[in-house]
Amino acid sequence: MTETLIVGLEVHVQLLTNTKIFCGCINRFNPDAPNTQTCPVCLGHPGSLPVMNEEAFRLSLITAIALNCEIAPFTKWDRKQYFYPDLPKGYQISQFDLPFSHDGWLEATSEDGTRRKIRINRAHLEEDAGKNIHDESGRGNDSQVDLNRTGTPLLEIVSEPDFRSAAEAKSYLEELHLLLTFLGVSDCNMQEGSLRCDANVNLHYGEGDDKIATPIVEVKNLNSFRAVEAAIEYEATRQKKIYEETRRKLGDPGVMKETRGWDANRNATFGQRGKEEASDYRYFPDPDLVPVTVTAERVAEIKAALPEPPSTRRQRFESEFGLSAYDADVIMNQGKDVADYYETVVTIAKDGKQAANWVTQDVLREMKERTESISEFPVHAAVLGAIIQRVVDKKITNKSGREVFSVLLEEADEDHEASDGRIDEIISERGLEVVSDTGALEEAVKSAIAESPKAVEDFKAGKQQAVGAIIGKVMRLAKGADAKSVRELIIKTLQEM
Ligand code: ZN
Ligand code: MN
Repeated sequence: MTETLIVGLEVHVQLLTNTKIFCGCINRFNPDAPNTQTCPVCLGHPGSLPVMNEEAFRLSLITAIALNCEIAPFTKWDRKQYFYPDLPKGYQISQFDLPFSHDGWLEATSEDGTRRKIRINRAHLEEDAGKNIHDESGRGNDSQVDLNRTGTPLLEIVSEPDFRSAAEAKSYLEELHLLLTFLGVSDCNMQEGSLRCDANVNLHYGEGDDKIATPIVEVKNLNSFRAVEAAIEYEATRQKKIYEETRRKLGDPGVMKETRGWDANRNATFGQRGKEEASDYRYFPDPDLVPVTVTAERVAEIKAALPEPPSTRRQRFESEFGLSAYDADVIMNQGKDVADYYETVVTIAKDGKQAANWVTQDVLREMKERTESISEFPVHAAVLGAIIQRVVDKKITNKSGREVFSVLLEEADEDHEASDGRIDEIISERGLEVVSDTGALEEAVKSAIAESPKAVEDFKAGKQQAVGAIIGKVMRLAKGADAKSVRELIIKTLQEM
């Protein structure tokens, strides 16, 4: 019997607010000075009272609306109780039965390249815990706790178990990452833990009433796209092997959800504990916080002000600028700044495909050698647009366009600003204008032919490639000439001789 892989993702996103979710402490990643960004509220001192950070709630609304979620008109806070050293209050303030948003979707790309809607069950807001620091020196067994992160606003986005492959799950996470950066609600720094992913993985055998499911495994804290993909693939293989050996399935006595960790060095998951059921957390409404109401007007207002999401923009790049799905993907996956850069270029250049070639090849290559971000790239979008425009208008050849581009870059490296006006100066200094004056071009062809009796003889003897030597001479005489039309003109002239 063949198995079907079933995966759902829970993603925790740290929101980019100035202060923490329920107190005035600064919200900043700062592992070098542990326990310096705390106060009685986030340390859980008795008598201290939380107050909701309005900005954290606003960023959450923006994200949930962009994820096509329904927004609840009424939402409240609940205490999720568990013991862990990094949780000073003994409970986490979260949302249980009335999350502020539910029932959305986001597209992911399947292995065959088709895009598919992945349903989102809910997105809710909660506080982050601190961080346990374990001594890995081998000298002692000390563990310490850094509470700087305690109370960081966390948006938890829970998908339905809609993924059928590890690649699909990875693609969803990449798309979510891209969307969050477009919205500017998180710095999405995965190495620093701003975006963390848990994957629920199991296998189904058969269909309908005869369906058998393997026990669900939750792999915690996957903090790279690669880790998500690798951990799911690892679990699929591991669970298949166990099922074939033991026939242990969901619903058997003693079978419970299991929580596993991911060891990136060993490229394997490892057992941690049996997974708690919701009832183990003894959720109850937090009496210290007031519920939040959201009006339909507010939702409409945020919706109207949303930036165009990557998926819509990708489609528009295809329909408006004639890009292939592949090119639209390459540009969009570079992030919002590159997409903005491309859009300015194409508006001036008036040729979507050529603009895409320049941006994805020349610009990205040169950018990576110079800066981190395209906003610091010395040839601004408007200037590149002007270069390509001259190519599109056949004022210069594509090759000459690249020459202008590299001259501008060289000059920028020596601190001269790349400007629009400089383009035409370079073109005339280097004699790059396309010789559209047919009289002059014919003259150049004639004298090149006159200087190349051997090549002419070879051509007449049937050696087409002899034309190459004549082309070279013409190009030296008429620098900006377009090689293709030069070639045609030479052949025509030779044939008429
Ligand atoms: Zn605090
Ligand atoms: Mn959570």
